[in-house]
Amino acid sequence: MTLNAIMPTYRRAPLAFAKGQGAWLMTEDGTLYLDFAAGVAVNVLGYRHPALVAALCAQADNIWHISNLYTVPQQQHLAAKLTELSFAEQVFFCNSGAEAVEGAIKTARKYHASKGDEERYEIICFRGAFHGRTLTALAAAGNEAHLAGYGPPAPGFIHIDGFHLDQVEAAIGSATAAILIEPIQGEGGIVCVPDEFLIGLRRLCDTHGVLLILDEVQSGMGRTGKLFAHEWAAVRPDIMAVAKGLGGGFPIGAVLANKEAACGMTVGTHGSTYGGNLLAMAVGATVLDIVADADFLAHVNQTAQALREKLDELASNYGDIIQAIHGRGLMLGVQCVGNNMDFMVALRDAHMLTVAASNSVVRLLPPLIIGEKEIAAAYTALQTACDSLRAQQARVP
Ligand SMILES: *Cc1c(COP(=O)(O)O)cnc(C)c1O
Repeated sequence: MTLNAIMPTYRRAPLAFAKGQGAWLMTEDGTLYLDFAAGVAVNVLGYRHPALVAALCAQADNIWHISNLYTVPQQQHLAAKLTELSFAEQVFFCNSGAEAVEGAIKTARKYHASKGDEERYEIICFRGAFHGRTLTALAAAGNEAHLAGYGPPAPGFIHIDGFHLDQVEAAIGSATAAILIEPIQGEGGIVCVPDEFLIGLRRLCDTHGVLLILDEVQSGMGRTGKLFAHEWAAVRPDIMAVAKGLGGGFPIGAVLANKEAACGMTVGTHGSTYGGNLLAMAVGATVLDIVADADFLAHVNQTAQALREKLDELASNYGDIIQAIHGRGLMLGVQCVGNNMDFMVALRDAHMLTVAASNSVVRLLPPLIIGEKEIAAAYTALQTACDSLRAQQARVP
C-alpha cells in the first residue's frame, strides 16, 4: 500500500491529532496543543461543542442529503436567520469559501446583464487579497505565485495597490461591475482595511452604479467581535461571501445579497449539488444561533481585549522578535522581526498552533470560545517561543 498517496500541495507539520476538546488538540501520545489556528478560522466553537454534536447527530439520524430539486425547509430556516442578522435578503448555499466568492462574482455580473448591461463584467480587486483556489478566485486575487502554471488567468479583474479611493475611482469605467474586497486581508497578513476606506468604497459604488462585494469568508462569523467585520464601519455591502466559521468545521459556504443585487439569479442561472446539504444546514443554523447572540459577541470582545493587552505587553518586552500586533477582535497578526516560519515553529515547539500569513506574519485565529485559561496558556507559549528565538539568535556568531 502506498503510504502517502496525498498530492503534496501543502507544507504539513509533522503532527497528527487524535482528539480535540474546546480550544485544545491532543496527539496520539497524549501531548496537548493550544489551538490558535482553529482549522484556519473555521472551528469558531472549538472541538466537541455539545450543541454542534447534537445538531449534527440528530440530522445524521434523519435525511443527510436531498437535492435542490425539492423545497428544503432547513435551507429556508438558515437563510431566514442569515438575512435577519445581516444586510442581506437572499442567500445561495454552497460548500466552500472559493465557491462563495465565485457565486458572489457571478451574482454581480448577472445583475448587470439582467439590466441589459452585459458589458459590465469587470471586478476591481486589491493586491494582497486571497479569495480561494478556483481559477476565477485566483484571477480575482491576482497572486502571481498562485496563478503560475495554470494558463491565462480568467479575464475581467483589475488590481489596485493599497487602499486609495482616488485610484479606485480612476479604475471605475463603463465595464466595472463590482468592487471585491476583504474587510481584513487574512492570508495577506491580517491587513485591516480602514473603516473610512470601506465607507468611501460604498460611496463610489453608489455614485457609479457598481456593486460592493465583501469577502467575509475569514473575517465573518464573530471573528472580529461583530457578526460580520463590515459592521464596524457600518457599511452595507450588496453581496457577501461567507464560509469558514459558518459551519464550525462542517463544510459550508454562502452567498448573501440584497434583493436588488440578486435579481439576476433566476431559475437555472447557478447551482451546486451539495449546496444547502442538510447536515451543513443543521450545523450552520446552530453555529449562527450561538455566535450571533449578543452575550456571545460581548464575550468575544472581552476576550479579544484581554488577549490584545497580553500581546502588546509581549511586543514591548520582545521588540527584537515582535515588530507589531495587527488585527481586530480574535483575528490577530503578529508581525515578526524575523522569519514568520521560525516563529511559528518555535510556537509549535511550545505546544501552540498558529497559521503563517504573507511573509512575516503569524496569525492568531483562536476558537471564539477561549477564556482566561487559554489566554494565559497562549501568553506562556508566546513567551517561551520568544525566549527560544532570542537564545537561537544569541548563538548565531
Ligand atoms: C479561506 C478563504 C477563502 C477560500 O475558502 P475555501 O473554503 O478554502 O475555498 C476565500 N476568501 C477568504 C478571505 C479566505 O480566507
